[in-house]
Amino acid sequence: MATGTLRDAFVDELRDSYDSEKQLIKALKKMAKAAKDDDLRNAFETHLEETQGQVERLEQVFGLLDEKVKGKHCDGIAGIIEEGSSVMEEDFDDATMNACLIASGQRAEHYEMAAYGTLVAWARVLGHDDAADLLQQTLDEEKAADQKLSALAEGGINDDAAGPGTNDDDDEMSEDEPPARSKPTKVATPRKSNGAPARTARARS
Ligand code: FE
Ligand code: ZN
Ligand code: FE
Repeated sequence: MATGTLRDAFVDELRDSYDSEKQLIKALKKMAKAAKDDDLRNAFETHLEETQGQVERLEQVFGLLDEKVKGKHCDGIAGIIEEGSSVMEEDFDDATMNACLIASGQRAEHYEMAAYGTLVAWARVLGHDDAADLLQQTLDEEKAADQKLSALAEGGINDDAAGPGTNDDDDEMSEDEPPARSKPTKVATPRKSNGAPARTARARS
C-alpha cells in the first residue's frame, strides 16, 4: 500500500528547488559574463544575488519543517540550462546573443515560477503559513526577474537584434517603414519601445 503523503511530495519539491537554485547560481554567472549589454549584465548579476538569498530562504524552510537541508537533482532546470549553454556557443552577433540570453533566462524564470507557485500553495494547504510566506517572497522575486527581462527585451535589445548590423541610433526609421513624406507636426514620444511602426496615417488629419 502506498504511504507517501503530500508532505513527502512537498519536501521532495523543496529539495528539487534547492538543487535548481544552486544550478542557477552557476548558470547566472555564465550568463552575466556572456551578456554584451550593461543593463542585461546587471540584471543577471542582481538576480544572482537574489538567488543566493533564495537558497538561504529554502534552508530556513527546511528548518521550519524540521527537515534536513538537502538537494535532489533537478532534471528540468538542468535541461533548460543545457539549452542555454548551447545557445551561448552559437556564433551570434552581440545583439542577437543578448536577445537569446533573455530568452534562455525567461525559460528558467518561468520554470521557477511554476515550481514556487506549487510550493506556496502546498505550504498553505499543509498549514505551514510561515514557510508559505518565505516561498512567496521567492516567487515574487522570480516574477520580477522575468518582468525585468521582458522590459529589457522590449526596451531595445530586440530592436537592436532585429535592426541592421551597424546599429545606428541616430536613424529613427525602422527598416519596415516607408520613408516619411513630411515631418509630423508633433512628436510626443521619440520611439515606440516595442518597435511598432509609428501611426503615420494620422498625420493627414
Ligand atoms: Fe530562483
Ligand atoms: Zn525540478
Ligand atoms: Fe530565478
